[in-house]
Amino acid sequence: MRFEIDFLNLKFRAAASEAVSFRVCETAVSEKSKESSELSALDLLKQQDRESAKRALAARLFRNGVKQEDPVDLSYQVREGERVEPITPESGEALEIYRHSTAHLLAAAVLDLFPGTKLGIGPALLDDPKGGFYYDFQRDDGGRFTPEDLPKIEKRMKDLVKRNLEYRRCEMSKSEAEKKFAEMGEPLKCELIEEKGGDTVSCYTIEGTPFVDFCLGPHIPSTGKIKAIKLLSIAGAHWKGDESRAQMQRIYGTSFFTQEELDAWVKQKEEAERRDHRKLGPELDLFSFSDPIGPGLVLWHPNGALIRKVIEQFLDGELYRRGYGFVNTPHITQSELFHISGHLLHYRDVLYPEMKDLENEQVQYRLKPMNCPFHIQVYQSRQRSYRDLPQRFAEYGTVYRYERSGVAHGLMRARGFTQDDAHIFCTPEQLKAEIFGCLDLVDFIFRAFGFEYKTELSVQHPTDHSKYLGSDEVWEMAENALAEALNERGLHYQRMEDEAAFYGPKIDFKVVDAIKRTWQLSTIQVDFNLPERFEIEYIGSDNKPHRPIMVHRAILGSFERFFGILIEHFAGAFPPWLAPVQAIVLPISDRFNERAVAVERELRAVGHRVQTDLRSEKIGKKIHDAQLKKIPFMLVIGEREAEGNTVAVRDRVRGDTGAVPVADFSARLSELVRTRALAT
Ligand SMILES: [Zn+2]
Ligand SMILES: [Zn+2]
Repeated sequence: MRFEIDFLNLKFRAAASEAVSFRVCETAVSEKSKESSELSALDLLKQQDRESAKRALAARLFRNGVKQEDPVDLSYQVREGERVEPITPESGEALEIYRHSTAHLLAAAVLDLFPGTKLGIGPALLDDPKGGFYYDFQRDDGGRFTPEDLPKIEKRMKDLVKRNLEYRRCEMSKSEAEKKFAEMGEPLKCELIEEKGGDTVSCYTIEGTPFVDFCLGPHIPSTGKIKAIKLLSIAGAHWKGDESRAQMQRIYGTSFFTQEELDAWVKQKEEAERRDHRKLGPELDLFSFSDPIGPGLVLWHPNGALIRKVIEQFLDGELYRRGYGFVNTPHITQSELFHISGHLLHYRDVLYPEMKDLENEQVQYRLKPMNCPFHIQVYQSRQRSYRDLPQRFAEYGTVYRYERSGVAHGLMRARGFTQDDAHIFCTPEQLKAEIFGCLDLVDFIFRAFGFEYKTELSVQHPTDHSKYLGSDEVWEMAENALAEALNERGLHYQRMEDEAAFYGPKIDFKVVDAIKRTWQLSTIQVDFNLPERFEIEYIGSDNKPHRPIMVHRAILGSFERFFGILIEHFAGAFPPWLAPVQAIVLPISDRFNERAVAVERELRAVGHRVQTDLRSEKIGKKIHDAQLKKIPFMLVIGEREAEGNTVAVRDRVRGDTGAVPVADFSARLSELVRTRALAT
């Protein structure tokens, strides 16, 4: 019954102008204000700067000098005491408005092609591998969208873009809106209005299309502003994510300000799929999950475990050099420990349920979700003096957190994982030097893996300290120590106000991988809370007890997640220092098997990780298979090599690089490993 819509649009427009005139009456105090209230945001922006007004998608609104949380449409009628700034494609707020508007465009195109389709919700997505927006639909004719429909819908969207149709906002009372959407046969929208609508409800239409949406906005002024669109996929969805509710189909798409940006995103998405650790893990025999063991619990296979071992040994050496002591603590504890620490209060939903002690009903045990309280117990096992500080305890501590099974995502979000955890106990005077030491270590380790990184310093709110624990003096001291350490290390960082943990300020690191994706990995957190809760002390030079400061820090985060990121960063082609097999010896026929085994033995004797392919396959097939396993070097042995004690070296990237004596290859590989070279 979509023919009613034009009529409806007219009524909507009438409602909109009523709402505006109502506003004008309300604010018409003086002649001057009446004048300014007749101007739209766009009119004002044009007066300020014609160029940026032309590029504006929406506007930032200031009322009596205070920035309002929600941006407004360019058609917004500016009132007395208000001022606007343009939101252009460069503005932080722009992409969400742009993509939300593209989602509306998708719905308009679908309604055009498939009349009677019911609408769910259609939000923008900003950092989701699935796309930049979606819209949920329910077909009236009982049909289902198929992948073949996507190009048709996309084409209709582009047609609507060409016609440069206006996005229009109108406001009406809640009951009026409910009535209109009921008339239009949109029960789901009625439900939304009922739940979320205030006294006045805003709706958006796209000129000349049957589309009407209950929506807060803002939106771009017209479809012509949308420059690059792509529809991506169709997925099943349920209304409000509730499986007992109506089944819907979700169409994902994305949009960018330029075609170049869109092309780059599509390329990166394909690259990410090619690198997906969940695909490469089984292919390279690195890890797996098992149904009888359960979701989120990782099995490290020999190839994966070897890489982990190499990383652990690398860390061991660095930590020892930098004055850390290693500790090992149990996987379970009496619940009492997490009572004292407060974890039972704050982290209850990620804790696994209690286990009963069979001999004592009063005692319960828990799997540990974090290592910190255990390290505190090590600290408290004896009296500490200021001369003992700093104490640095490191552990590859395995913890268990109950993630909902739907949330587990390969290695990236496991239920059992091992942190490269450490806790530093120090005096306030030592804090800066300790933070500096952590920054230095983080930098050293990230470089070894070829990661660039970004740094953020999270501090408390500048004025409102109500949700933060600890005195103003101690916060100021700690925040200054962190900032000074960052400056002295020469690190650029972003200062994030009101982003600190309730128990102290922190520094976070995000690494940038080979395809420019960012991952939150490391964190260095100052903690004023646990030392209080556990009442830990040291005896100062004044012979009196003092409270030490505690620093939590993890660099890789968890081995599982870090490994997932590493697999994708290198696309499974690990550099020689990490590769589980560094070289494979390939005899070109059975006649050279004996020689091949001798070469393998010689290289293994100096610690290289080498295998031999003795199958009776053609050399081409052996090379092909080694290449699939992404082994850095293939050492081919034929007549000439066997006689001359050489190997013909094939590099997985450059191909054939010529024959060299075995000892020369061995020395070169040793050097690549020693320097942790990233390229061969
Ligand atoms: Zn909307
Ligand atoms: Zn900790």
